[in-house]
Amino acid sequence: MLYLPGMSTTLAATPATIAEAAAALAAGKLVAFPTETVYGLGGDATCDRAVAAIFEAKGRPSFNPLIAHVASVEQAATLVEMTEPARHLARLFWPGPLTLVLPRRAGSPVSLLASAGLDSIAVRMPDHPVALALIQAAGRPLAAPSANRSGAVSPTTAEHVARCLGGRVAIILDGGPCRVGVESTVVDLTGERPALLRPGGVAVEALEAALGAPLLRSADSPDAPRSPGQLESHYAPSLPVRLNAVAAAPGEALLGFGPVDATLNLSPSGDLEEAAANLFAMLRALDRPDLAGIAVAAIPEHGLGLAINDRLRRAAAPRGAKQHRRTGETARSDE
Ligand code: AMP
Ligand code: MG
Repeated sequence: MLYLPGMSTTLAATPATIAEAAAALAAGKLVAFPTETVYGLGGDATCDRAVAAIFEAKGRPSFNPLIAHVASVEQAATLVEMTEPARHLARLFWPGPLTLVLPRRAGSPVSLLASAGLDSIAVRMPDHPVALALIQAAGRPLAAPSANRSGAVSPTTAEHVARCLGGRVAIILDGGPCRVGVESTVVDLTGERPALLRPGGVAVEALEAALGAPLLRSADSPDAPRSPGQLESHYAPSLPVRLNAVAAAPGEALLGFGPVDATLNLSPSGDLEEAAANLFAMLRALDRPDLAGIAVAAIPEHGLGLAINDRLRRAAAPRGAKQHRRTGETARSDE
C-alpha cells in the first residue's frame, strides 16, 4: 500500500492488516493501534527517528518519556532490569494497565529520546490481542503514547484517532472501543520504595495488596519521584469543566455518575470500571459548541475512581499556563 503524506488509512485489525502495520513500523512509520487503556500512537521504540516522529505528530513541544510496549516479560527483560518486585507485579498484572519504571539495562536498544535521556525506562505489556500481535509482528518494542494531540482528551476509538491525528500516522488499526478507557497506572520501582507516579487502570489498592506495603505518593514526600508527564492541565476538552457538580448550571451539560438525571451518565449504576471506560468518549461527546461548560458529578476516590478523578482534575485545571505540579515551572512538555 502507498502511504501518502497527509493521509491516514483506517484498517480493521486482522492478521493481514496487522502484518501490514508491522511492516510500516519496521520502516520507521507511525501506526495508531488499540490497547485496553486508550489508542496508542506507536513507533519503533528503538529508532530515534520514529520516536521523534511521535513527538512531532502529537505536537508535544518537549520530550516527555514514552512507555515501551512489549509482548512478554522476556522482551521487557531485554530492555530493563526486571527486578524481583517487577517480576512479581508483572506476574500478577501483565498483560494489563500497569506500567513499570525500571533501570535501563546496559545495552538496552530503546532510543534515549524515548526515555528522554533518563537512566530508567517505562515498560508495559498491554492486554489487547491486536496490540500484542502488532508488537510481536514488528519484532521490537513500541513506544506508544496516547494517539491524540498534546493536551487533548485521549482517544478510545479509532474514529477519535482519525479525528485528531488523521494524516499524521500511516495506518490506524481499528480494534473497536477500548475496554478500560483510562491510561495505565505508572509505578516507579527504581527507588528504595515503590512509588505511584500516575493512578490508572490498575487500582492502587490492588498494587498495595500485592506489594504488601503502601506505595509512596508525592503527597507523602516532596522527594517522591514524579512522572514528567503529569501536568496540571491535560485531557482537556475545549469547554470549561466543573467538578463535584450536583446539577448543571444554565448552558452546562451534566456528566453524571450513579442514579441521577444527567445529559450523559458515566455509570448509572455507580460502577467505577464502567465509568472509566466511558470517561474520555463522554467528555468528547459533551464538548459541543452549543454548550457553555461541562459539569461533572462527584466520583468516589477509591479504586479506578483515583484515576478518573486525576484525569478530571486536570481536564478542569486552568488552561493557558500549564503548570508542572511539583516544580510550579511552566511546563512545555505534555502527553
Ligand atoms: P503516556 O505515554 O501518555 O501513557 O504517558 C506515559 C507516562 O509515563 C508519562 O506520565 C511519563 O512522564 C511517564 N514516564 C515514562 N517514562 C518514564 C520514566 N522513565 N520515568 C518516569 N516516568 C516516566
Ligand atoms: Mg496521553
